[in-house]
Amino acid sequence: MAVKTAKVVMFMGVGKAFQMFEYPVPTKIEPGAILMKTKLATICGADMHSWRGDRPFPVPSVMGHEIVGEIVEMGEGVDRDTAGESLSTGDRIVPTIMASCGVCYYCKQKQLPMKCLKLYKYGHVKSDVAPYFHGGCGEYVYVRPGTGVFKVPKDMANEEAAPLMCAAATITGNLDKVGLEFQDKVVVFGAGMVGLNAIAMSKGWGAAKVVAIGHHNERLEVAKKFGADVVINSKELNDDELIKEVRDLTGGFGPDLVMECTGSTRAMSLGIEMLRIGGRLACVGSTYPGGKVAIDASKITLKILTIVGQHNYDAKHLGWALDYVYATRNKYPWKEIISPFFPLTVAGVTGAFKALQERTAVRPAIVPDLKK
Ligand SMILES: [Zn+2]
Ligand SMILES: [Zn+2]
Repeated sequence: MAVKTAKVVMFMGVGKAFQMFEYPVPTKIEPGAILMKTKLATICGADMHSWRGDRPFPVPSVMGHEIVGEIVEMGEGVDRDTAGESLSTGDRIVPTIMASCGVCYYCKQKQLPMKCLKLYKYGHVKSDVAPYFHGGCGEYVYVRPGTGVFKVPKDMANEEAAPLMCAAATITGNLDKVGLEFQDKVVVFGAGMVGLNAIAMSKGWGAAKVVAIGHHNERLEVAKKFGADVVINSKELNDDELIKEVRDLTGGFGPDLVMECTGSTRAMSLGIEMLRIGGRLACVGSTYPGGKVAIDASKITLKILTIVGQHNYDAKHLGWALDYVYATRNKYPWKEIISPFFPLTVAGVTGAFKALQERTAVRPAIVPDLKK
């Protein structure tokens, strides 16, 4: 019998063109694993930074770590998802961004499975080795044992489901850790996918007011649709003006929580300045090295600030993100911000990365069976 093969589009290195390869589709699905057929994968800002060379990245690699797929085959022992829902072939699922071992120091002792000593991250590994299908830019994804998996409700769109795997679950993870309190006043820096999730989710978590700060007016208009009460274009104000504006909007004391979702060092230092005494700074935007911030260290001590970082998340946070986006799918335009759609070809993947770099899209998507 002929071996069935399928396509992946691989990142070959900074400045090099993507290339398409065909590899055998895995036939031996180990216990605890799932073979899924990619329905839709969105391209994340972190992918774009890796592609541009802002951080070291293994090559060749199948990028893409925001994926929704359909179960083709399940290994022994897989019959339910992480939330306890039954699973069958044909169901759509969203996996966690990582597979972790469950027994190492970070998994077991420190409850940080996203930093597992044997961590495997979808869309982040050298991919010219079996099982080849390691990321979203492929027709299939081999979901390893040790991955959290959540069944996608039948009436949830692929566009709503794919970005849960990175942007959305990172925010639920961060809000869990940072301790947003009921009626808190929140400032969110950034109106990209992570920022929009931070705005919508802090509202759902009980924030009284959310101020979104960005530097693209079109994006700030989108931020309003996701629940921002006030938007500020940071390009139009100097630091002192911006801090005064935010203080005026937050009862004169400053915000309770600032969420830095851009990776901008200006946002980080402004956040420390504008926070009220006892405030919290959530840092999720800086995901590549080099961002140095000059701060007056006494501000942290004297203002009794808490600084909380978040990189990736625990499986439960993906479950929370799914439930929240599903529950608010008629309230916020989750589906509408996913565009344009590209086929799984070299030109398609290149087009998606360029759309993100040129900021013509919040979240471009790869759809392997895109109707031409
Ligand atoms: Zn990402
Ligand atoms: Zn581990």
